[in-house]
Amino acid sequence: MNLSDQLIRTTEKDPMKEAYIFQGEGVSYQVFNASVTKFAAKLNELGYGKGDHLALISGNSPLFMIGLYGSIRAGVTVIPVNPTYTVHEMSYILKNGDVKGVITMDVLMEKFEQMDADLNIQDYFVADTGAEPRDFSLSHKMKSFTKCVEEGDVHFQGPPLDGEEVAVILYTSGTTGKPKGAMLTHKNLYSNATDVADYLRISSSDRVIATLPMFHVFCLTVSLNAPIMNGGTVLIVPKFSPPEVFEVAESYKATVFAGVPTMYNYLLQTGKDRVSAFKNMRICIAGGSSLPVALLNDFEKHFNVRISEGYGLSEASPVTAFNPLDRPRKPGSIGTNIVNVENKVVDELGEEVPNGEVGELIVRGPNVMKGYYKLPEETAVTIRDGWLYTGDMARKDDEDYFYIVDRKKDMILVGGYNVYPREVEEVLYSHPDISEVAVVGSPDPQTGESVISFVVSSNPELDEDELKEFCSGSLARYKQPRRIHFMEELPKNTTGKILRKNLREQLSQK
Ligand code: AMP
Repeated sequence: MNLSDQLIRTTEKDPMKEAYIFQGEGVSYQVFNASVTKFAAKLNELGYGKGDHLALISGNSPLFMIGLYGSIRAGVTVIPVNPTYTVHEMSYILKNGDVKGVITMDVLMEKFEQMDADLNIQDYFVADTGAEPRDFSLSHKMKSFTKCVEEGDVHFQGPPLDGEEVAVILYTSGTTGKPKGAMLTHKNLYSNATDVADYLRISSSDRVIATLPMFHVFCLTVSLNAPIMNGGTVLIVPKFSPPEVFEVAESYKATVFAGVPTMYNYLLQTGKDRVSAFKNMRICIAGGSSLPVALLNDFEKHFNVRISEGYGLSEASPVTAFNPLDRPRKPGSIGTNIVNVENKVVDELGEEVPNGEVGELIVRGPNVMKGYYKLPEETAVTIRDGWLYTGDMARKDDEDYFYIVDRKKDMILVGGYNVYPREVEEVLYSHPDISEVAVVGSPDPQTGESVISFVVSSNPELDEDELKEFCSGSLARYKQPRRIHFMEELPKNTTGKILRKNLREQLSQK
């Protein structure tokens, strides 16, 4: 029940099969697995093992995959970190996460030079990206990642891994305060990767595009671990760009694509003459935030491919629900329970509400995290009686399909009525000129809060009054936007999720 042992089993089945393709070069399972073993051996030789934490800070690359699986094979816990984080954000995680070593790239060393004095880092395992050579003030702690992989003993056998031991700690920003480290065990990661693969029938014949960031749990489980556990091929795309996705999809006959809604939007907008690039695509997977129904319909029609929307969160490794392949997929829904995982909609007292009623979504299964690192109180609030409280509001229909209404904390209270931003966003998305929307609440002396919209429009003639008029046909008066701001682009995080939080801050600054 762990990723490392399963990689060995997959390799034994078909050693020459390509595990991944990166920058035009395919690497077989045999070579990938040998690199993993050799890196694990080197870690072991340098004194890394169970109880040690290694941060993995890189873009999508073979380094990430070998670093992840190699550390796990050595029994080390991995902390993947967003490489675009500032020194301040990164050093918080490295300190809080008690990190002993860092796997990274030469171009990021400048950041570590600024924070190293405040940390307790023993080694930096650094990949050479071909950047201009320079003197590093931390050269005494730096080791070439490539050399470590070359020099390690290929016959190394890692320690036995217990399913309950922590494989990965993922720092998630959660709802408030500092990022918290969600501890995911070997069982958590292995079970979610295999359960997702079962549900979406990801097999050795799949070629899966990995363009979501690998440090994020969506990519980690869906685009990386699920295919690797089943002998599929990962098509590594370092940074999301529609031309590159089309190029990789066409050249390597990709069968699975996973992305967040903004990616689907960009692909649709720039892919008018690239339909053939997706002709081998068996399924497109959406998650991370709600996929506007208008976008789902337009995308499916244009590319002639089915999108299955699912739902997950870091604390659940991440997937809990997906639209099934063998039953109808329902637009606007996150689908039904995946294998082995239960979802339930409950009231404030934790009692299940009748179908159709809105409540908090809670989940239970082998994928639910062990807890937050060094935060027992926060863990006790989030996991109660074995159920993980997601902080997302949802409802279930009579056929057991779930619908995310919105995040609990994003609900807007207008004159005593609840407004869920998503409902307003769906209406604005259905306007043909609108490509991006975010709705937030803003303090209002009369009604407590009012609904404010931010939109990106392709039509410079479209004005606020016309859009308000458009909304009035579909939304009760209290849900209609009080103001609509036209923007060039909406703020997004590196995963591509639109950041309502930043828009709220912009409003309060105004
Ligand atoms: P993260 O831990 O970064 O993966 O973020 C998890 C959060 O993303 C969830 O708690 C939801 O608020 C949101 N989310 C994920 N998938 C969906 C979806 N299909 N629809 C709406 N929200 C989603």
